[in-house]
Amino acid sequence: MSSTKSIGVFIVLLLSVIDIPNVSGFSSASKVITSSSATTSTKLTMSSSDAAAPLSTSDHVLFDLPVSNNGARVRAIIYKKQLSTQDVEIISPMRMGGLKSLEYLALSPQGLMPALSIQKQTPLANGMKHLSESDTIARYLLAEYAGVGPSFQPDNPRSNQICRWHDVYLTTIQGCLYKPASRLPLGDYADRKSAISAFQKNLKVIEGFMSDEGMYLCGDEVSLADASLFPTCIFANYMLPKFDSSQPPLPPKLNTWFDNLRTNDSVFAKIYDEIMDTLVTSWEETNHRWDSIWLAGQRDEAPGTIFDKIVAKEIPATIVKEDEHILAFKDINPVAPAHILVIPKDRNGLTNLRKASAEHTDILGRLLVAAGEIANDSELGFGDGARVVINDGYDGGQEVYHIHVHVLGGKKMGPMA
Ligand code: AMP
Repeated sequence: MSSTKSIGVFIVLLLSVIDIPNVSGFSSASKVITSSSATTSTKLTMSSSDAAAPLSTSDHVLFDLPVSNNGARVRAIIYKKQLSTQDVEIISPMRMGGLKSLEYLALSPQGLMPALSIQKQTPLANGMKHLSESDTIARYLLAEYAGVGPSFQPDNPRSNQICRWHDVYLTTIQGCLYKPASRLPLGDYADRKSAISAFQKNLKVIEGFMSDEGMYLCGDEVSLADASLFPTCIFANYMLPKFDSSQPPLPPKLNTWFDNLRTNDSVFAKIYDEIMDTLVTSWEETNHRWDSIWLAGQRDEAPGTIFDKIVAKEIPATIVKEDEHILAFKDINPVAPAHILVIPKDRNGLTNLRKASAEHTDILGRLLVAAGEIANDSELGFGDGARVVINDGYDGGQEVYHIHVHVLGGKKMGPMA
């Protein structure tokens, strides 16, 4: 834990999809990578004033950090099999100048963690000098050290289904838990909310693959599925409540499995401590990472408004347009012959326009597209154009704190006041 902490204070963002800044003293110019021409040995080296000193003389070097989600599955294997540092030494990618350094990119072309340097070639390595996909690294180590410790059941179809589903459908959305708003949208998902909902749906799908018996996902014996899914569930368990505290982060069977591993399996307890230590001490307390993640820890807790009741159809309104995202209805006190309000069904923090962030790009676009369509509708009383207004805050004369677009028309407007 203490070593985790000491690393933790230097790192800003340490998940596998996140850049690590170069650290002073390890500039990319100070390192060289050499490969011996023989197929039996490849040594990573760092230049020094005298001679190139090897970065490690171990058989394998795993480039990884304690908070790395995908690296954690490989660490679980290393810890469970009790591999020595001669077998696999775990080194921070910062020693190679960070994830985006040329040296590291030579090992891991996507600049992600983990990466494995194979320094002692065996037939199983098949000439590969480095590997950079966590599932591939995990399976290589399971094969290389097959005779040591638990097998992790690399051929169990239940485990493989979970591993594959996790890597293809879950990890690819995981950024929704911690990506800053400025880096939205999230892949296929226009906003964090829909990405989180897809993430939770896939957790439920994976839950359906679990065995009904035993402490582990595939029964009484640990499998690669446990090693792959457990770290992701640490992130989910810790972060999902930051966005929505109204429902449990993990579905029930997965939650029981997760709690069991965390409390009754010392290796998974260690993985849990490694990841949580950085998430809490570095991300939350030191780097205030959550400040840049919209709504994380600062949910929409403003009082509801009369518009919620209109959305819930608890009070009547003359609705003129409705879809999954927006509702448009006639203003009860029209100030023009045609006066329609367009609102998001889910306020999602948008009490007023000044609360808008990149998270809201999609819904703001939808409101304006709907306003344009309404302004085109002669049956609603619109003629040749409309005035589209958003009142914001006290000075803007806003009365209802649920963002809304006024679409005004049916007459020629005068100059703006
Ligand atoms: P604003 O001043 O921009 O906050 O606008 C709020 C608008 O909501 C006003 O034009 C009100 O007339 C309108 N409004 C308030 N209550 C209702 C309601 N129950 N149905 C329709 N419009 C409403």
